[in-house]
Amino acid sequence: MRWPAILSAALLTTTLLTVQPVTAQAAQGAQGARKAQTITLGAGEHALIRFELPDEAAFERLLTSGADIAARPRTTPDKIVADIVVDNRQLAELIELNATPVQLIHGETTNAARNLITTQQADTLQFLQAYWWTGNGRTFLQTQVATTASDDPDVEITVRWTTADGTTGTYPLVRFEDADEYQYHYALPQPLPATPVSVTATSSLGGVSRAITPAAWPGSTPPANPAGYQKDFVDAYLTPADITARIKRLARQYPKLVDVLDLPNKTQGYRRTAAAYLGDPATAAIVVESVKFGDQGFNGVQVRTIDPGKANSPLAASYRDRVLTVKLGTGAGGEVISSTGDVAALIAARFPKRFTAFVEDGSAGLIMPVAGPVQLDDGLAGTEVPTKPQTVQALRIGKVRNGTKPGVLAYSQEHAREWATPLVTLEFAERLLANYATDPATKELVDSTDVFIIPTVNPDGANYSFNDFNFQRKNLVNHCAGAQRDPRYRNSWGVDVNRNYAVGSYFDGYVGASANCLSGTYAGTGELSEAESRNVVALASQHKNIKFSLNVHSYGGYFMWSPGAYKVPGRITLPRPSIDEAAFFLSSAKRIVGAIAAERGTVTWPAYTGPVADVLYSAAGNSADHLYYDLGITAWNFEVGNDRWNETTQQWEGVGFQPPFDEAHAESQEYAGGLIELVRIARDQSDLR
Ligand SMILES: [Zn+2]
Repeated sequence: MRWPAILSAALLTTTLLTVQPVTAQAAQGAQGARKAQTITLGAGEHALIRFELPDEAAFERLLTSGADIAARPRTTPDKIVADIVVDNRQLAELIELNATPVQLIHGETTNAARNLITTQQADTLQFLQAYWWTGNGRTFLQTQVATTASDDPDVEITVRWTTADGTTGTYPLVRFEDADEYQYHYALPQPLPATPVSVTATSSLGGVSRAITPAAWPGSTPPANPAGYQKDFVDAYLTPADITARIKRLARQYPKLVDVLDLPNKTQGYRRTAAAYLGDPATAAIVVESVKFGDQGFNGVQVRTIDPGKANSPLAASYRDRVLTVKLGTGAGGEVISSTGDVAALIAARFPKRFTAFVEDGSAGLIMPVAGPVQLDDGLAGTEVPTKPQTVQALRIGKVRNGTKPGVLAYSQEHAREWATPLVTLEFAERLLANYATDPATKELVDSTDVFIIPTVNPDGANYSFNDFNFQRKNLVNHCAGAQRDPRYRNSWGVDVNRNYAVGSYFDGYVGASANCLSGTYAGTGELSEAESRNVVALASQHKNIKFSLNVHSYGGYFMWSPGAYKVPGRITLPRPSIDEAAFFLSSAKRIVGAIAAERGTVTWPAYTGPVADVLYSAAGNSADHLYYDLGITAWNFEVGNDRWNETTQQWEGVGFQPPFDEAHAESQEYAGGLIELVRIARDQSDLR
């Protein structure tokens, strides 16, 4: 397109018609700090060039003059940028007007096919998702749109919705990249006055999508519970001890329907080594630590350094009556000459079965002070918590528990701080048991399936979360060495159980776990290095009839399946499910999301329903991928605790790991319903076989 003559007439004080070719020296002269770029066009040659304009008014003038403005990127808010198709003459005119060419996006080519492509500016837009739903009397719309201009970070996409009465509105989408790869444009669910009957998307490049009729999400409702159906079996958050008691009670109350399975790998227990700073960490100190756990006779052991009070005394240590005494070495004048490093090394070498010691950060090379006595302590605050290694237990529920019925495994609290999750699995368990005698539908389910439930996979971490540090995510096993064992890091130790499995793991090169023992996603010393993860795999592999599993986490309101991890660069995921499997995952997900919504109208968003790697993040070495790829189990993940819509602020608000109990209770009720729907799916699938 040629500019009309009005541009020159309106804007130019001089013309450069005779200068051929034009060379633009961007960033020379007054704005020399800017990156230099030379853009040259031959006579009559066209190019798409990104310009920085001097001000907003210049942009407006270009617009009204009919300049061929291809895009107006907004990546740098403090600058006025425009992508404009110009020929050599117009390039010169713009430079004269203090516009700075900063990028030659692409030039004119003589190849006919190439011309065809470059002159076709508009991108192609495709709705990946367009769903509406109603929750708590409010209608919401959520959309995802992909553009073919996937490499252009400045494309702006707008969705326009229309309701049956003709009301219409728009909202912008946000570009979503993951691992540097373009995924799609999306927006959070938007409140609408009524059900949308049509949506279209347009882009800043001129792309226009087909009009789409949004579908109802999830479009599935579970069978209604009969009158007298019993539920609401959780009255408080449950500690691991409470969960053990609950398991025992259910087994006693329903002996014909329940087995209690002791999983094979005991946990470390709610235990830590005992440690203390000897000296002042702010000036000079070492850390002395017991080799055994504090509860194995080392809490309260005293440690001190003393000055022998005479010259040329050798550094020495003794341990007697639970007191470790280090006699510092002295020089010819009686002055102490032992360094922090000398003392730490002596303690570790002299009593290798009892103590270890290391120099506190910042104290290396300093003279060891006379200090103590100080008491070693494991620092654990819980007084009512059993310290011994824990046996993790599973409930097995079914009329026929011999492996001939299709098995469903639900497990929760891999992550210690997710307190609501055992409430979900225990509510689910008790609904199956309590309604067996009175509800024929429940009886039919329990008679035709074999349900395994691990309410708390990570009891040690849970005890720490309840008693010491509520944000504890990992287990209590400390694989750190050296200075990373400093007690100041006590809330960062442990292995992320849900990064410790053997498929798509950190050790296989996948993203989303760490080798750093202090990281929140520490993968452990190797695949399945932890008792907690080995227990889940042991249960799932010993019972070959388990065909479905649900890994219950919080929070966020996600419902996910494999692949759960990818490699970079290239964002190469674990293999995608087949078309048939993917269809089954999605159709089953709609049933389960519908069952969750039946309780209090909580609708898990379509954008949060899908493969872990796509809707949440890459989680290398997670349990569901292990169960799916290695054991052939149709494996799912819940993140219970959906965001709540706040009518007042018109915002979605997160609920967190440990919401007020009323919220946790509500989550347990709705997600227990989701688990029951999963059992129905298992039954339906076995009917088909
Ligand atoms: Zn979690």
